[in-house]
Amino acid sequence: MADTSTLRIGLVLGDVMGTYGDGGNALVLRQRALMRGIDAEIVQITLDDPVPDSLDVYTLGGAEDYAQRLATRHLLRYPGLQRAAERGAPVLAICAAIQVLGHWYETSAGERVEGISMLDLTTSPQGKRSIGELVAEPILDGLTDTLTGFENHRGGTVLGPGSKPLSRVSAGDGNKAGDRFDGAVTGSVIGTYLHGPALARNPQLADHLLSQAVGSQLPPLDLPEIDRLRRERIAAGRR
Ligand code: GLN
Repeated sequence: MADTSTLRIGLVLGDVMGTYGDGGNALVLRQRALMRGIDAEIVQITLDDPVPDSLDVYTLGGAEDYAQRLATRHLLRYPGLQRAAERGAPVLAICAAIQVLGHWYETSAGERVEGISMLDLTTSPQGKRSIGELVAEPILDGLTDTLTGFENHRGGTVLGPGSKPLSRVSAGDGNKAGDRFDGAVTGSVIGTYLHGPALARNPQLADHLLSQAVGSQLPPLDLPEIDRLRRERIAAGRR
């Protein structure tokens, strides 16, 4: 944590990227930090702001194709997110954002857009939209709890050797229909197709990001109502 008194959580381009309440990921991070007595604030970065490289953790949400292109242009113009990841700041990128963080993505209109190459992946339109509940088992070290969320994307993502999948899919499509993996991880950068918001549904993933941000392993919080919600969602996803 750069500033020892307050954890600074970047909500990156929530004005154009934030479908399905993905901005809630920043709220979950703040709340789980506050519950441990760690002071935390959300820093909103919009299309009017350069992207700072000094924050402790960053989140980016999903978007429709046009909004996604605006965000890509902004992140290329102001490469603060890239610099932050280079020094190991945790980054969570959801859906359109996993595509933006790759080398390029092709929109459903067939146009290829250069990405910001923080993840080793490319995305092309699939024959059919992947939509519905997604359930997956984590592969990333330090994560043991089943991941649950909701996916809605036309793009199908293929990883190169520089990124590893986040999880193995047991229900739904994930990165690309038929591949049975979801997400991508390179260093401290995690991308996934899980909406939900992902961190509301997957508190262990939230604590993984927070622990990286504060530089020490945070103990779990005992929140039985969240466990119950998770059980319901996972059961619904597997039906
Ligand atoms: N526009 C992208 C796609 O359809 C991402 C969609 C999203 O973020 N929900 O693949």
